[in-house]
Amino acid sequence: MNVTRLAGHTLPNEGRITVNGYRTNQGPAVCSCGWTSADLFSDTSRRDAHRQHKQDVATAGRQP
Ligand SMILES: [Zn+2]
Repeated sequence: MNVTRLAGHTLPNEGRITVNGYRTNQGPAVCSCGWTSADLFSDTSRRDAHRQHKQDVATAGRQP
């Protein structure tokens, strides 16, 4: 199952992180549900981590 959108789980700013107004590449992906990944080093890594997070949530939601 390919999850591209999941209600309640969005990645603000496509995973981009700003610190004190400056873009930075290092930091966790933060989902709107409160989930955070480990520190990552690119927007692509954060989007991938978030995609996996949604996949995990969707899979867990289908289990009894
Ligand atoms: Zn989430």
